[in-house]
Amino acid sequence: MSDKKTPPPPALPPSFKIGDNFCLFHKGNIQGDIYTCPACKTNYCLICAKKAKLEGKLCIKCKQLILP
Ligand SMILES: [Zn+2]
Ligand SMILES: [Zn+2]
Repeated sequence: MSDKKTPPPPALPPSFKIGDNFCLFHKGNIQGDIYTCPACKTNYCLICAKKAKLEGKLCIKCKQLILP
């Protein structure tokens, strides 16, 4: 006797997408003015970019200097 059970479809967890509106410095949605890295076109908050420049931090994606 064959009792074939159809397996339930795999429940995929809602994938967290990093969109254009995501700032990698504070790890949240960009608020206010946007700073775009000229090298890799990654968007950051302008506030975070200015803070990063003061702290000598580099673009998280391409390690270029932040130049607001
Ligand atoms: Zn960059
Ligand atoms: Zn930010």
